[in-house]
Amino acid sequence: MHVRPHEAVEPVLHRVVIVGGGFGGLYAAQALKRAPVRVTVVDRRNFHLFQPLLYQVATGGLSPGEIASPLRGVLNRQSNTYVLLGEVTDIDPDMRRVRLSDGTLSYDTLILAAGGQHHYFGNPQWEALAPGLKTIEDATEIRGRIFLAFEAAEREPDPAVRRAWLTFVIVGAGPTGVELAGALSEIANHTLKRDFRTIDSREARIVVIEGADRVLPPYTADLSAKAAAALERLGVQVRTGALVTSIEPDAVTVRVGANDERIPARTVVWAAGVQASPLGRVLADRAGATLDRAGRVMVEADCSIAGHPEIFVIGDLACFTHQTGTPLPGVAPVAMQQGRYVARLIQQRLVGGGAAPFRYRDKGSMAVIGRHAAVADIAGLRFNGSLAWLTWLFVHLMYLVEFDNRLLVLTEWAWNYVTWNRGARLITGRTKELSPRRRGDTEKTRDSEAR
Ligand SMILES: Cc1cc2nc3c(=O)[nH]c(=O)nc-3n(C[C@H](O)[C@H](O)[C@H](O)COP(=O)(O)OP(=O)(O)OC[C@H]3O[C@@H](n4cnc5c(N)ncnc54)[C@H](O)[C@@H]3O)c2cc1C
Repeated sequence: MHVRPHEAVEPVLHRVVIVGGGFGGLYAAQALKRAPVRVTVVDRRNFHLFQPLLYQVATGGLSPGEIASPLRGVLNRQSNTYVLLGEVTDIDPDMRRVRLSDGTLSYDTLILAAGGQHHYFGNPQWEALAPGLKTIEDATEIRGRIFLAFEAAEREPDPAVRRAWLTFVIVGAGPTGVELAGALSEIANHTLKRDFRTIDSREARIVVIEGADRVLPPYTADLSAKAAAALERLGVQVRTGALVTSIEPDAVTVRVGANDERIPARTVVWAAGVQASPLGRVLADRAGATLDRAGRVMVEADCSIAGHPEIFVIGDLACFTHQTGTPLPGVAPVAMQQGRYVARLIQQRLVGGGAAPFRYRDKGSMAVIGRHAAVADIAGLRFNGSLAWLTWLFVHLMYLVEFDNRLLVLTEWAWNYVTWNRGARLITGRTKELSPRRRGDTEKTRDSEAR
């Protein structure tokens, strides 16, 4: 089946197909709003996801709908733009077609912005035991595991097993790991402190494992030290220079130097490795693109691939080294700016022009640890504490895609701030599979003992 939106409707217009409605794809599509082109955005999800706030869904602070916006709604005022729900499985650069799981789509220019996925460093079996955080499903899965662990601990008669239920291990101390650890500390020490009768949620142990020698490795050493101190104040235990060597259903083993430490823990979250979408490999096979070690596509200075000026790769799927000699970081502003850049370049080409190479304008980076605890490095200015925290809140609100979501999130944050509550702490989905009895060591619960 050939999917319709293009040639059938407006055969004369230049057809731009954008794969992925994340930061790169969406910003490219929006920047083509007034261009004389026919844009089709294909995504396997019908929504744009604001990944920077996923950890708040994973910890019950926000609900999924507050950080996701339906792509059709976001783009419904762009009359030159079609939105298709579909999964791209293959690319035929000779025929200029992308293959979907249920059809094909022709293009004149292709923008690939399919992002990335988790990477378990050759240990795919860890994924089931230590889910990563990338999708809404991941976030609700992690949320279920976190709150189920407290439920299981409440019913667990064996102190050692109870301790394991109350131990949370986060692998990776980048921004996501640090954010999760801070939020978990708040849950244990404030949100849940009156909710249970047989356990004290404040006894929860939160351990962050990091292979580098400090937390937040991409940040400067002084900001890393401040983040580490903030985590310590929250009671989070940080193991740096530590490598995970095994993950089992009830424990994580880490190697620090020559020593192995086994940490009994029932909840493990993966916030360590990221690799590019498999569409990078497809492009390598079909169009001879070169990939880096993370599977990202090496792009030219204008974000196209060598030998195919009509194929652009942007965002987390691209490896752009032309500015500094090293790859640009996998962050939203890179994807957004590349999206806008290729949109401009496409329009310039249509009138016979070109464009200067892409240049990333780095406006800085921020990571939040908890209330009034964040670190920021903006325009060479490094700061932390309440000012960094307020800046983080403001920036994240501003970049949420729709006004309704901004309002909802602002209201939710204000309420959570005053009450320490996290109203979205639901255990949903695979509750049978995750039930304490199935995952616990004993059939004897505290309940049944008491009776
Ligand atoms: C938990 C987390 C926290 C983060 N926090 C921050 C932060 O605080 N600040 C920051 O700057 N960056 C942050 N990032 C990174 C940032 O989200 C990414 O750099 C950014 O999303 C990359 O944009 P992208 O367009 O390349 O990919 P994405 O935004 O990931 O979008 C890819 C899109 O492609 C779609 N797709 C994938 N494969 C296919 C296919 N085969 N067919 C059809 N559609 C497909 C996906 O459904 C998705 O919608 C975070 C990332 C994560 C996971």
